[in-house]
Amino acid sequence: MKIRVGHLYPAYLNIYADRGNMAVLARRAAARGHELVVTPVGIGESLPRDGFDLLYIGGGQDREQALIAPDLAARADELHAAHASGVALLAVCGGYQLLGRGYRARDGSVLAGAGLFPHETVAGDTRMIGDVLLECELEPGERRLLAGFENHAGRTLLDPGAVPLGRVLAGFGNDGVSGVEGCRLGAAIGTYLHGPLLPRNGWLADWLLSRALGHAIGGEPPRLAPLPDALEVEAFRVAAERARRRGGRGGQRRFLWGTPAHHPPPA
Ligand code: GLN
Repeated sequence: MKIRVGHLYPAYLNIYADRGNMAVLARRAAARGHELVVTPVGIGESLPRDGFDLLYIGGGQDREQALIAPDLAARADELHAAHASGVALLAVCGGYQLLGRGYRARDGSVLAGAGLFPHETVAGDTRMIGDVLLECELEPGERRLLAGFENHAGRTLLDPGAVPLGRVLAGFGNDGVSGVEGCRLGAAIGTYLHGPLLPRNGWLADWLLSRALGHAIGGEPPRLAPLPDALEVEAFRVAAERARRRGGRGGQRRFLWGTPAHHPPPA
């Protein structure tokens, strides 16, 4: 099968090697005899109706988010329609924030979002940085661990009743307080986890591929044959170990503007 992927704003939202997620999806699809066809979607370029099985949007600094936000918000209907038709979606950090109702940046400016995810984000005066470990249950009774790296000023507040991606075992997550990370809405996953995320979490890549294939065939998401993930498992083990060593939500890095030791965090 051809799995059609729309990669939103790759020229703007691509920090922490988020592009690597595409490479992993392509490799894992090819290992099962499928072909990932990735179409970059830039500012002003429309999403043809029913033209995709999976949408991807990466993370970025406030400046880049501000450059694409009006265009993203303007395609809210397209995104809602794609989601309603079962298109799978992975949104990372800055992209995750802007697929909610909006992001209020540190300077007080508000970037309206596409309103797909039931949340909104407010930037705080500290950045939440470091390795993260989550416990997820995307399928009832199937608990899985997810390891990644976070670096964000935004605090994302899920609406009551919204479903998070996972429970925080180590790290900050959505806001450093709620104990949860990310958001899940059917086949759409939003998360703060960079790294990139998918190389060390093959199971999530397969979960997304399976949903995208289900959309492509117009049926139930197929179960994918397991792959010999020795490298992926080792990468996960190292990342999870680092996160555990960090423990809880300790070590909040506080950037006090203008102090001598201050190294300006990425905007
Ligand atoms: N600029 C946003 C924040 O600081 C998102 C950062 C990111 O994508 N890593 O919260």
